[in-house]
Amino acid sequence: TGALVWFRRDLRVFDHAALHHALRAGGPVHCAFVFDTPILAPLPHDDRRVAFIHASLAELAAELEALGGHLLVLHGDARDEVPRLAARLQVAAVHANEDYDPAAIARDGAVAAALQAEGRALHLYKDQVIFARDEVLSQAGKPLTVFTPYKKAWLRRLDAEPAALAPWQVEPHRAAFAPGRSQLPTLADIGFASVDLAAVGIEAGMRGGAAQFDGFVDRMAAYDTARDFPAQDGTSRLSLHLRFGTVSIRHLVRTVTALAARGQAGSGGATWLSELIWREFYQMILYFNPHVVHASFKPAFDKVQWETGAEADALFAAWCAGRTGYPLVDAAMAQLNGTGFMHNRLRMVTASFLCKDLGIDWRRGEAYFADKLVDYELASNNGGWQWAASTGCDAQPFFRIFNPVTQSEKFDPDGAFIRAWVPALGALDARAIHAPWLHGGAPGYPAPIVDHAEARGRTLERYAVVKA
Ligand code: FAD
Repeated sequence: TGALVWFRRDLRVFDHAALHHALRAGGPVHCAFVFDTPILAPLPHDDRRVAFIHASLAELAAELEALGGHLLVLHGDARDEVPRLAARLQVAAVHANEDYDPAAIARDGAVAAALQAEGRALHLYKDQVIFARDEVLSQAGKPLTVFTPYKKAWLRRLDAEPAALAPWQVEPHRAAFAPGRSQLPTLADIGFASVDLAAVGIEAGMRGGAAQFDGFVDRMAAYDTARDFPAQDGTSRLSLHLRFGTVSIRHLVRTVTALAARGQAGSGGATWLSELIWREFYQMILYFNPHVVHASFKPAFDKVQWETGAEADALFAAWCAGRTGYPLVDAAMAQLNGTGFMHNRLRMVTASFLCKDLGIDWRRGEAYFADKLVDYELASNNGGWQWAASTGCDAQPFFRIFNPVTQSEKFDPDGAFIRAWVPALGALDARAIHAPWLHGGAPGYPAPIVDHAEARGRTLERYAVVKA
């Protein structure tokens, strides 16, 4: 009897589908998280995400204990650990929230099979999205590939099904928790270093998520005008909390729709909701088009020949290190390397620069972002890279090529963001900072590694194969 709730990317004790269902089915309900070795193996020992999860688990354990439960944190291959723990606890079933990453789907299939072999069930629930993969389709019931019709269909479905926002209550069913003492390894126990999360600038856990969202609610009305300026605090910075479920997507959408209904969300509220819908759009794209993980969404773009060899490797290394000689690109890479976060406008600018100024395969940039981004999400990262490289669904047309200098003048007009991240440019004024080479350069700062106008010409030639 009883159940095990297996936490993964849902590190909270409120509005939690799996926890709700397990508790309602009757206790005793045990809770566990597994530091899954196949996921951890390729990560650097000072990975910020592992530190964020670890800090969030400490809070989760304390909150579960306050409700009468406890949290067991294991370290090993989840495909073995979860069935083994379920057998040790003698529970009838394991409950977890769905994770749509291809690797997670495969892992969950293996866990379900192992549990089933011993007469146990794995119950999975929709939790981290409002509408999952195949729940928003065209009126003819087909998967969509363009955002605007998807968004309209998403909003129509929400109108028809407001219960999709209802919270999955935990507190009223707390009597079903199995009491006990939480067990949490240290970061050193699992082979990781403790990292100063202050550098990320985002506080971990449910408390961090709530504080971040509360602060943003006051700024939401201005989101549409402030969101493109990296020097401003214009976006929510909730992506990391959405990644690990320390906020509830239903709570976010309920809040923004309620504010909008009262006329308090301004024009920013609707724009922000659109961004949350983009998140689900890319998850849907990945589900119906799993080839995007390795190849272009539009197969014609697989003919594009990217630069390879030692020269391309050197250009790629300069991009990674923020030494391209284009100040906004370099400031953005410094932000990524220094904090694990990068502003959305800059993700677009740096991705475009890699593919369309340096001629380097978007997959190399995608992999670099995957290593560094604290909010790394396969579907959104792949979608963003394929958008910038013009290989994706609903992507930027290939002949639209961001000019890294005009982007800089437009979105960091006084150079505040650049100055904050590239100390060598700290003394330049707003006139010189976007293109220092036109103003005598700056000591310690490289000259541009490519000429944008020439690169633009090469890119148009490179993409010409698509039309042929
Ligand atoms: P806000 O502007 O406040 O948006 C709110 C939320 O909406 C975000 O937290 C995020 O969950 C979602 N969102 C916003 N924009 C997008 C988008 N374009 N696509 C999908 N979801 C979106 N986002 C990730 O979460 N993980 C990634 O790995 C990732 N990689 C990206 C790579 C590239 C090349 C590009 C162009 C974009 C990428 N994005 C990714 C999308 C976007 O840049 C981030 O979600 C956003 O910058 C996070 O900051 P925020 O929380 O302040 O966003």
